[in-house]
Amino acid sequence: MMNCNDRDDRKDSNDHDDITEPVSLTRRQCFDEGVETLTEAGIDEAHSDVKLLMEYITDVTYNDMYLHPDELIPAEAVASFREALKRRTEHIPVQYITGRQEFMGLDMSVSPDVLIPRFDTETLVEEILRLGLTGIDILDVCTGSGCILISLLHYMHDCRGVGVDISDKALKIADSNARRHKVDAKFFEGDLFDALIRAHEADNEVKLKYDLIVSNPPYIPTDVIPTLMEEVRDHEPIIALDGSSDGLIFYRRIVKDAPKYLVRGGRLYMEIGWDQGASVSRIMEDEGFDDIEIYTDLGGNDRVICGEWRR
Ligand code: GLN
Repeated sequence: MMNCNDRDDRKDSNDHDDITEPVSLTRRQCFDEGVETLTEAGIDEAHSDVKLLMEYITDVTYNDMYLHPDELIPAEAVASFREALKRRTEHIPVQYITGRQEFMGLDMSVSPDVLIPRFDTETLVEEILRLGLTGIDILDVCTGSGCILISLLHYMHDCRGVGVDISDKALKIADSNARRHKVDAKFFEGDLFDALIRAHEADNEVKLKYDLIVSNPPYIPTDVIPTLMEEVRDHEPIIALDGSSDGLIFYRRIVKDAPKYLVRGGRLYMEIGWDQGASVSRIMEDEGFDDIEIYTDLGGNDRVICGEWRR
């Protein structure tokens, strides 16, 4: 740990815990202490996590730190920063500490009630944006933080969206993200399409037919979950991850019901696991989808599947 020599002489010699005393540190000291603390705790992304924690907690960006490394960070901010480091050493994901994650260039609020938006999921959004669609209705099933729906609505013109999720707490986050990014989205709670049926019964302005259905459902096979990184396994919502014994339950359920909620010529886009392309393709073919295609992410793994409903 970094030693704060200039302050130590003010403390009692029997104070063994002086590192936690409120002291101000220079930006450089704070940064170095952060990297050292996280590295010692075995956190892989120590350097980039410290950049984020410093920025969000002490309001000092990496750029600020390099430009004026000797400026002092006040004692209270140092204390909050150390508290944040401590949480990170417990393998709490940095995004749950800062409360945010960037997705498609947009700042999204997150909490432990939602899956942290993943870079790989941007592939799904990008493939849809390539189509250049405008003026359509989009349904996002298992919306979580709302990142997919909100980024689509942000970049597409004149579109409206509905997001459904089984978690009421997730929907509060999605709703706040939608309001923050000023998109036309409504959110309803329930088990997959049930949420939509109930919402439509309560308010028939809520549509039952969509031009596009998108989903990043939970798709990790149950027995793989214990092998995931501690950050994911112990801190992200299990209901956002667990796709049953073979990981495919939500694909079967979504693909089976999606045709009822798609206009003719409507398309279904889903994120898939790297090894699920063949299985999910078969599920879509069996249900009668046409023009099924799989797209890879930047790592070269199968990541997105889509198909058209022509009947
Ligand atoms: N749609 C959200 C996302 O992609 C949530 C996904 C989920 O909870 N499985 O991040």
